[in-house]
Amino acid sequence: MATLRFKALDEISRREFTESKLSDEKISSYFGCDVFDREKMRSYISKDAYDSLCNAIDEGRRIDRKIANQIAQGMKTWAIEKGATHYSHWFQPLNDSTAEKHDAFFEPMWGGGSFETFKGELLVQQEPDASSFPNGGLRNTFEARGYSAWDPSSPAFIIDKTLCIPSIFIAYTGEALDFKTPLLKSIQALDKAATEVCQLFDKDVTKVNVTLGWEQEYFLIDEALFLARPDLTQTGRTLMGHIAAKDQQLDDHYFGSIPIRVLDFMKDFEEQAYRLGIPIKTRHNEVAPNQFECAPVFEEANIAVDHNTLLMTVMRRTAQKHKMRVLFHEKPFDGVNGSGKHCNWSLLTNTGVNLLAPGKTPRSNTQFLTFFVNAIMAAHDYGTLFMASIASHSNSHRLGAHEAPPAIMSVFTGSTLSLVLDSLEERLSDKKMTPDEKTEIKLDIGKIPDILLDNTDRNRTSPFAFTGNRFEFRATGSSNNCAAPLTVINTAMADQLTKFKIEVDTLIEKGVKKDEAILQVIRQYIIRSKKIRFEGNGYSQEWREEAKKRGLESIESVPDALQVFFRPEYVDMFRRHGVLSASEIHARYEINMEVLAKKIQIESRVLGDLAANHILPTAIKYQNVLIQNVRGLQEIFPDDYKEMSSEVIRAIAKIAKHVKAIRENIYLMTDERKACNNMTDLEEKARGYVERVSPYLKKIRYSIDKLELIVDDELWPLPKYREMMTIN
Ligand code: ADP
Ligand code: MG
Repeated sequence: MATLRFKALDEISRREFTESKLSDEKISSYFGCDVFDREKMRSYISKDAYDSLCNAIDEGRRIDRKIANQIAQGMKTWAIEKGATHYSHWFQPLNDSTAEKHDAFFEPMWGGGSFETFKGELLVQQEPDASSFPNGGLRNTFEARGYSAWDPSSPAFIIDKTLCIPSIFIAYTGEALDFKTPLLKSIQALDKAATEVCQLFDKDVTKVNVTLGWEQEYFLIDEALFLARPDLTQTGRTLMGHIAAKDQQLDDHYFGSIPIRVLDFMKDFEEQAYRLGIPIKTRHNEVAPNQFECAPVFEEANIAVDHNTLLMTVMRRTAQKHKMRVLFHEKPFDGVNGSGKHCNWSLLTNTGVNLLAPGKTPRSNTQFLTFFVNAIMAAHDYGTLFMASIASHSNSHRLGAHEAPPAIMSVFTGSTLSLVLDSLEERLSDKKMTPDEKTEIKLDIGKIPDILLDNTDRNRTSPFAFTGNRFEFRATGSSNNCAAPLTVINTAMADQLTKFKIEVDTLIEKGVKKDEAILQVIRQYIIRSKKIRFEGNGYSQEWREEAKKRGLESIESVPDALQVFFRPEYVDMFRRHGVLSASEIHARYEINMEVLAKKIQIESRVLGDLAANHILPTAIKYQNVLIQNVRGLQEIFPDDYKEMSSEVIRAIAKIAKHVKAIRENIYLMTDERKACNNMTDLEEKARGYVERVSPYLKKIRYSIDKLELIVDDELWPLPKYREMMTIN
């Protein structure tokens, strides 16, 4: 019987490729057609309802029931006209996926007949009977009461004849069980703090929005090969496989053209994205073979997060249609680059000013410097928390591996701004400035070029890099929900800006002029945050040493990272800004620790099974062939066979060595797993899995990968790297 691998390769060789049928229309003619956006609302609900909904959205207020009823009616009418039959609250529970429970609009009538219905209370609140979502002890399973509630700031959309209503997901006690709730709260906190600071410069600013532009990296693999790799199907990554002779050494994939089959997939999912109002703008190859990236135009952060999670779903489904699978795991293949999801973050006022873009006048540049320096301070004081927010088992395989930022926080500002900060530090003082000094400093600040978007001055090794008009948080993993790091960054910035405002106000009260007070505080921040600024190569060993000297923290393990959230100063920060309570932090910690232990447990079981039941029998089969060969030679050449078969005998011995090592390590790994499973303390268990079980995955893999180089290709049961990394 042919192995799974050869069946898969055979299937691929016979695969016929037909291009998808795509729209000929201009994108602008159908962009957002499946979204119940403000424009559509206006024609489906009364003006009063529309106005109060918009106010509620803009001011983050509750919507009253009467209006909810009207909106529900309008939404239903629109959705049914578009052919929708069901509706669903759509939310992002704490397990890196999205959840939906579909209910039909259809309602049978007592005594016959039926009608379509959807009431306001169903729009506003639902009880999804979601007892199996992760809740970290916040919700007793027997009570099974988590509520989802409509988030009116993100518009409803139709996918697969289902009206999806973006929602938050909370326990009946009001605690958040999802990513969105704290994100929304952090956006509100930052809006409040940033608006107050903007008021120092411009009284017209009444609202500050957070903007997010994510860049999503991913791998594609042919479906047949994917299905022939139980490690990929069950853990999202390959647990074995010798690196291909040719992978990314020649950089030819990054600069090459996109394979036709992949391009067809891209166009297909992009078309669906446009219908859903997701403004995808960029597509390109990435560094590793079969690795790609897509990025939209940035949007308001909450919507951008929804769009990212929605797009991931669309991409998964579209890939299947194209007989491929999309891998969002951060490190599906060893030896080549992993995948990240850069989060480009900035702040935009209601007056249309990007607060992280230099302006044209000394005044607007002082405002820019204020926000820029406060962001650096936030990264300085809360950087460890930034890094902790994206810690996960899968992302840990990517971070620090010379392809992604290390676990040390630093900020890259670019040479222009670095010089500006240095000279400000020198020129400014805490004493009263003379009019001449003031003029000189103003002139200096005025000279900051209004366009800093210089591609030659990009540092791709920094976790938090300033890229001309935004910060780019590059440590986020491709499978992470951007809401997790964004919640932290927003809250830290809110906290920092609040402190800034207090410090400036205190100086003003002491009689210092406003402009001077602002500059004095900025100067102190430049001095205090100096150690976090780094312009060099963040992947280098020298930086690790330098960072240590500077006293910067490096959080090396996932359990350590998860515990960072418990530090009193961080718990206090989240509480102060009403973003996460201590019990919510605890619940998240429990969920993440449990997931960590389970993920390694699954990997260990899968590898144990593959090694014992697929690899060992294959290796022994081939070893027997070699033994037969030596015996045959002995029969024919009784005098010379030893000399003739010396290399074969060495191969037999090598196989024996690896077979033994694999068998031993499987036993040892199983014992460790058993020991860990008996641990009742969550942290102890997760640490046990990381420290005691994980190392065996590497050891077993090492022997398997060596065997792959020795054993006859015809016998090898699982698709090899060179096969998985080619899409034709
Ligand atoms: P690069 O790979 O050079 O970083 P990309 O074009 O791939 O650039 O991605 C840049 C991302 O940054 C895009 O999503 C873009 O919309 C986003 N971006 C640009 N300006 C802002 C901003 N002010 N706020 C947030 N994101 C932004
Ligand atoms: Mg980028």
